Amino acid sequence: MNSDKMICKNCNKDIDDSAKYCPECGSSTGSRDEFYVDSDHLVEEIKKIIDEGIATRIIIKDENDRTLLDIPLAAGLVGALIAPWLAALGAIAALVVKCKIIVEKPN
Ligand SMILES: [Zn+2]
Repeated sequence: MNSDKMICKNCNKDIDDSAKYCPECGSSTGSRDEFYVDSDHLVEEIKKIIDEGIATRIIIKDENDRTLLDIPLAAGLVGALIAPWLAALGAIAALVVKCKIIVEKPN
């Protein structure tokens, strides 16, 4: 794990955290937070992010960088609409020890 790297939204290459544009494909790096969380705290972390109401998309990956869940939040996902996602998160949390959470926010 290297906290000085992030992943390009467009081509998924590792790029430097301070880069404004991806050196591989030239796309804007925008605003994208990445962090690891123990699966025990996965559901509560995601709830917190959704409650903040800023994120436009949340991607959950495993330690091998495989995407487990890709949650689009563009339409202001609330209440009952979130429930199926939280159920899916619960299932993921039972399978993995650590997850990577990627939170996309508008520029
Ligand atoms: Zn790129």
